[in-house]
Amino acid sequence: MTALIASVLFFALCIALFFVIRKRKRYVFAVPDNIPQLLSGHVAYYRELAPEQKTIFEKKVKEFLLYIRIHGVNTEVEDLDKVLVASSAVIPVFGFDKWRYYNLKDVLLYGDRFNTEDFSTTGNERNTLGMVGTGALQQMMILSKPALRQGFQNEGEKNNTGIHEFVHLLDKADGATDGIPEALVQRQYTIPWIKYMSEAIHDIKSGNSDIDIYGAASQAEFFAVAAEYFFKRPDLFEVRHPELFALMEKIFNQQPGAKEKQVAKDMSK
Ligand SMILES: [Zn+2]
Repeated sequence: MTALIASVLFFALCIALFFVIRKRKRYVFAVPDNIPQLLSGHVAYYRELAPEQKTIFEKKVKEFLLYIRIHGVNTEVEDLDKVLVASSAVIPVFGFDKWRYYNLKDVLLYGDRFNTEDFSTTGNERNTLGMVGTGALQQMMILSKPALRQGFQNEGEKNNTGIHEFVHLLDKADGATDGIPEALVQRQYTIPWIKYMSEAIHDIKSGNSDIDIYGAASQAEFFAVAAEYFFKRPDLFEVRHPELFALMEKIFNQQPGAKEKQVAKDMSK
């Protein structure tokens, strides 16, 4: 009898432990409560928005954090990291009301650059700052935490790893990562976009462009690299690449830096 009670108790204990462990492992969609402050302090794109647009941006950041899980691999995920990942996702689709990243479930943040062979952060080939997963890593994005942060810190530069990877995801939404985001671009702009894109890639290859050399690797890389520049330094991009700028305004359905331009216009009156 005592043996029976002991085994029943042991069984009950095992079940209780199972639920405790399972609960611990379950991802908690914790949304930071200081999103506006973090955005004002770290995201230049957000600071350029009009007050009512800022509210919409905050809402979209929050929504993103409620359906995408962000995990740290050998690194802690701080509230700032969550807000920066979400901002990288929201910026390229801010012109579209109901966009949702159906092709993404998890973002892994690595403490350093990683190697795409085995995703280790040590070794010689620690050269990848971010990637969109394929195959077994479908619906997953990997970002280097230092690269993510740096993309938002160096406001004068043209690069932003987070935006780069989310633009690949947008491009991939139609099934092909080819630099032509059929899901976004209206038909009449596809041919001009391909034309300007190949001219711009040619200019990069011949050393006549200020667009990062990585943009010449393929049309998909060009689209992602040009988008980083478009969203981070719209002022410079518009002056140096007016045709590309005009087409990208159509593709992304927004005018980054518009408030800045309005202020300059008002001051010159
Ligand atoms: Zn890329």
